[in-house]
Amino acid sequence: SPRVVVAGETLIDFLPNSEGPLSGVESFTRRAGGAPANVAVALAHLDETPRFWTRIGEDPFGDFLEDTLRKRGVPTDHVERDPVAKTTLAFVAHDEDAERGFSFYRDETADTRMQPGGLADEDLEGAEWVHVGGVTLADEPSREATFDLMRRAREAGATVSFDPNARPELWETFDYVGSMREAFGLADVVKATPEDLAAFDVSGDPSELAHAILDEGPHTALLTLGGDGSLAATSDGSPWTSDLSVVEHGGYEVTPVDTTGAGDAFTAGVIAALVGDEPLSEVLAFANAVAAVTTTAAGAMTALPDREAVRAFREEQS
Ligand code: ATP
Repeated sequence: SPRVVVAGETLIDFLPNSEGPLSGVESFTRRAGGAPANVAVALAHLDETPRFWTRIGEDPFGDFLEDTLRKRGVPTDHVERDPVAKTTLAFVAHDEDAERGFSFYRDETADTRMQPGGLADEDLEGAEWVHVGGVTLADEPSREATFDLMRRAREAGATVSFDPNARPELWETFDYVGSMREAFGLADVVKATPEDLAAFDVSGDPSELAHAILDEGPHTALLTLGGDGSLAATSDGSPWTSDLSVVEHGGYEVTPVDTTGAGDAFTAGVIAALVGDEPLSEVLAFANAVAAVTTTAAGAMTALPDREAVRAFREEQS
């Protein structure tokens, strides 16, 4: 059975075919997305095929997503099809500062209806790693389903990782910061960006932000810094503690075409390297390489590298 379990939303990203506010965008390109789905597919490309639990509608968009997951090597045994609720849609637009904004069609859609226990204890047997994200925490019952999975994964002895994936548009019912704190408390490893932590009452350089995460309970905090790479901070409880409390890697020079999903590719790289018992410095170098390659084509799932492509990319860069 797979060593890694991933759970959370699979959705459609409609990427704008022109710049400017959403009201002026006439046509979009349909892409499979959802951060956990991106992580699952990226792991499959790295020969660390996970068990992936998600929920999509019994609708044509759901058909497309299930088909995409299967074609990209993710087994669909735990892809639930909701007979009533639709698949989540997210329309993306870029404002004047090229900042990405989302308009979500996610009211009681299929992924918000993931139920506690949807992945049984026997499905967690043998799992060394369980990864979830923040989007399913924004609504019930997927919120309780996500927390419940984190708790049971801990009890089963798996390493639990969490990515906040801040999407302010989604947080209408629950408090984002409070929810993140609760999730951090259930996680061993948190991967975040400085933007994910913007609403927190912490400031400072990336290393200070990482330590603010450790204060909430995880033993390992990873921050991604776009073109500047990433860093990892560990506390004493971490199995991967090095002599340094902070390990950094400055990333690679690429000409990015589309950074959507780069963070998810990074997460997959981290998980694949850590279940393989690589040291933290190698984990960051590997994950930055996976993420950098992913930015070189449009779409989160288009340019995902396999291990050989990562090796070749790193050789060419050195
Ligand atoms: P997204 O939300 O779009 O998936 P993110 O905001 O979560 O991405 P970033 O910090 O932007 O994550 O990027 C994740 C990783 O991708 C970085 O740590 C780095 O390894 C790689 N990366 C991103 N942008 C670039 C870039 N311009 N050049 C090289 N590598 C990049």
